[in-house]
Formats: sequence, C-alpha cells, structure tokens
Amino acid sequence: MTVLVNPTALANHKAREFGMLIGGKWEQGTGAPIERIAPSHGVVVSRVAAGSKADAERAIKAARDAFEEGPWPRLTASERSAILLKAADLIAARSEELAFLDAIEAGKPISQVRGEIAGSVDIWRYAAALARSLHGESYNTLGDGTLGVVLREAIGVVSIITPWNFPFLIVAQKLPFALAAGCTAVVKPSELTSGSTVVLGEILLEAGVPAGVVNIVTGTGPEVGAVMTSHPHVDVVSFTGSTGVGRLTMANAAQTLKKVSLELGGKNPQIVFPDADLDAFIDAAVFGAYFNAGECCNAGSRLILHRSIAESVISRVAELAQKVRVGDPLDPTTQVGAIITPQHLEKINGFVDGALKTGAEVAHGGGGLDLGMGQFMAPTILSGVTPDMAVAREEVFGPVLSVLTFDTAAEAISIANSIDYGLSAGVWSRDFDTCLTIGRKVKAGTIWMNTFMDGASELPFGGYKQSGLGRELGLHAVEDYTETKTLNMHIGSRTNWWVPKTE
Ligand code: NAD
Repeated sequence: MTVLVNPTALANHKAREFGMLIGGKWEQGTGAPIERIAPSHGVVVSRVAAGSKADAERAIKAARDAFEEGPWPRLTASERSAILLKAADLIAARSEELAFLDAIEAGKPISQVRGEIAGSVDIWRYAAALARSLHGESYNTLGDGTLGVVLREAIGVVSIITPWNFPFLIVAQKLPFALAAGCTAVVKPSELTSGSTVVLGEILLEAGVPAGVVNIVTGTGPEVGAVMTSHPHVDVVSFTGSTGVGRLTMANAAQTLKKVSLELGGKNPQIVFPDADLDAFIDAAVFGAYFNAGECCNAGSRLILHRSIAESVISRVAELAQKVRVGDPLDPTTQVGAIITPQHLEKINGFVDGALKTGAEVAHGGGGLDLGMGQFMAPTILSGVTPDMAVAREEVFGPVLSVLTFDTAAEAISIANSIDYGLSAGVWSRDFDTCLTIGRKVKAGTIWMNTFMDGASELPFGGYKQSGLGRELGLHAVEDYTETKTLNMHIGSRTNWWVPKTE
C-alpha cells in the first residue's frame, strides 16, 4: 500500500461557519455550534449550528405552510422542472467547493467526491425530467355510466435524514424527487458532514425554490431527527443510515402512520466461480472493499470464493490491496482516505480482533495506520472467516474484507442469504446459467453480474430484508412522494338504491 501524507494541507484552512435554513431565512441556532474535526488532519474545518427540537418544529411548520399555501405544489411541472434544472447547473458550477467540503468533513478522496458531485448533478437533471412525466391513469372501460380517473397528488411534507458517508449524493437521491412531485421538505444532514447540504440550501434559493419549500436543520439525531420522524405534520420520512436508527425511525413514524422509506446497512457478498474473468474480478474485489474506506452501504465486504480458487485469489487480492494509495484526501491520487472518527476506527478494530480470536487470519493489513495526522486504516483482508462470525454477518463499515469459501452454488447462495441484510451482491462467472441462477436466488435489491458497484439514475436502488424498505432512483422515484386519489365520476342519472326507478 502506498501512503500519501501531507500534514500541512489544511494548515491555513479557516473553519467555515454554517447556519440553518428555516422558512427561507438563515439562522445560527441558539446553542454552541457543533465543531467538525477533519478525520484526515485532526483540525477544525467547520462549525455548524446545533439545531434544537424547537428549530425542527419551526422548520416543519414552514414546510407545512409552504405546502398548504405556497406556490410550489401549484406550479406546473414544467416550471418546477426548470427550477430543478437550474439547481443542477448551479451545483455543477459550485462542484469544487462542494467536493472540498465533503472531502475534508468526511475524509473522502477528493477525486472520488468530484465523481459523486457529478453523479448528483445527473440525478437532479433526471428528477427534473421525471417531474414532467408524472401522471395518473384514466379508465374509460367501466361502462357507460362511469369514468374513473386516478390522480397522483404531492403527498405533503417530507423529512429527509442523511448519513455521513455520502453527504451530497444521498440527499440527491431524495430531495429532487420530492420537489419534482411538488412536496416541501425538512432536511437534516449528519452532524459530522453538514457543510455541503447547507451550501445546497443556498443553491436552491438562488435557483428559485420559494422560501419554506426546503428547510435545512442541522444538529443531532436525538434532538432534531427525532422530531422530524414523529411530528404529526410530516407525511413521509425518507431516511438513510444505520439499521438500528432505521428501526427507531419506523417506530416513531408508526405513531402517526407516516409513509417511510429506509435505506439501511449492507453486508454484501461477491460470489466467485472458477470460470470467472479473474483479472476483472480482482480489481472489483479491491474496489468493492476499499472504495470510500469501506464506509459504504454497498461495500463488497464478503468474498464468497469457490474453494478451488480461494488461495490464489486471496494472494492476488492482497497483492493489489498492497498498491492501494491511502492517505490525504486532498491529494488527487489518493484512493482511500480517512476513517470518519477515532471511535469508529476503534469499532472496526474491534471486529478484526473478534474475528482473529475466533479463528480468522490476517491475509493483509489488519489495523490502524499512523500517518502522523487524523485516523486511517490499512486495507485489510481476513481469511478463514466462517459464516457464523460477527465479521461475516455484521456491517463493519471499514476497509475490511472477509473471505469465505464454498463448494457448490447452492452452498454459496445459502451463505449469501444467511444474514439479516440484503442490499446488493455480485456474481462472477462466464456462464450465463450460473449468473442468472445466483441473480434470481440471492435476496438483494441489486445484483451485479461480472461487475460491482455500478449505478445509474435510471436504476432503482434499495434493500431486501433489514437493508431497508422502498427503492430510490429509477422511473418511479417521484411517485413515492405522491398520494393516489381516485375520482369516480358518474355520467347520466344514477340508479337509486332505495327507490327502484319507475321508468
Ligand atoms: P446513523 O444511523 O447513525 O445516522 C444517520 C442519520 O440519522 C444522521 O443524520 C443522524 O444524525 C440521524 N439520527 C441519529 N439518531 C437519530 C434518531 N434517534 N432519530 C432520527 N435521526 C437520527 O448512520 P451513519 O453512521 O450516519 O451512517 C452509516 C450507516 O448508513 C451505515 O449503516 C450505512 O450502511 C448506512 N447507509 C445506507 C445506505 C443505503 O442506501 N442503503 C447508504 C449510505 C449509508
């Protein structure tokens, strides 16, 4: 592994101050701001307003008022679409600023974040296009006396809660679709990575989104998020984060029967057969495990290898892992940046220690890297992992690859499906039947065949089992933010029930 160090990269950085956007006005919050220390360099890079319960309540009221009385839901789809397209252009124009913020707050490699911002621009444009294709249904087949029309109406106020691992990309998977439908929103980014979402607020005002339509309340989950998931004036909660907080979100939302969309954790397998294109796979294995330092819901954190190729594949993956460039996120050649917090690094190391105590072995890496700044971890490979170990069943959320083996396809499917998660999976074989059999039998929302972690705005994304509820992106993404209303219209005089018609 190549280590890239530049301890002075942020030496002259002046911490940026971020406020909250409520009802079209910027506020600073009443308490002490939350300081964000860059995970890569250990210096304060931003201060964000610590929103309170009362702030969240005011933001929900602003969104409710904007929905009930404001212009946004009443604009034509063409008008809303034009504003979303303008927002996409403004995001593109400020992409370097946004990429820098996500890189320093999340510790992500700058070159990777540039790709995420470009991907977000594409999603905003896709949502703008979908705004104009939202339509209902008509039924002219119900007999001479009836015409049925099914309307799609904007559902109302949407709470959007996002995690720290893809701060700008994940809000793009939710907000433009809610806006396309005509909804209003309250957005809460992770308290660790709020900067780019706050800048998005500035962009949306400039693009022409009316006051109160998008409100951004920064702060912690228990303070701000809890109000956003339980308040009676919220109609939908769209949450991305851990499975534990997802469960809590659903329980809170159940009190007032809100619609809930949950994008949660993953423990995604890559199943590899002996006839696979192994050169292509080795690269995908390293990419799948170490992209975003493994802090990725889609991380390919379980390799399920056919026993006959396991030994050689492990040594080839280790050889390539050795070349991964770990270090300063601001160096454009860095591939793996910092770990989000010291506490999280401890948690990851705990998983590795637990696996070693129960019989796994380190085939590469194995722990933290002292770069003289921030917190980093070596790309790690654990061999000899068995399906019952915690490291094979739970989301480690770090650069740790667990290797398991199988003898038959049925066994591979059974290992893949033996855990509570079902977000994504990969299968590698040149045999069409093998790929399709695995593709149909593995319980996951996305199956990659002979590739890994590709995506497009057109393709729905979400999880089976405890990886979530609902899908984001794709053709139906705007419909999720609508309610269905049936207009049942009678033509001519109605037949009476009590008094039979006397002709
Ligand atoms: P997290 O669950 O700790 O936090 C997510 C968000 O929820 C944050 O904004 C947080 O402040 C908020 N929150 C915390 N407690 C809350 C509460 N009581 N009520 C309401 N909101 C609350 O997750 P994280 O550590 O920020 O992110 C990592 C997790 O996100 C991983 O499990 C990862 O798999 C998951 N994730 C899933 C996807 C997906 O699309 N499936 C994508 C990215 C991340």
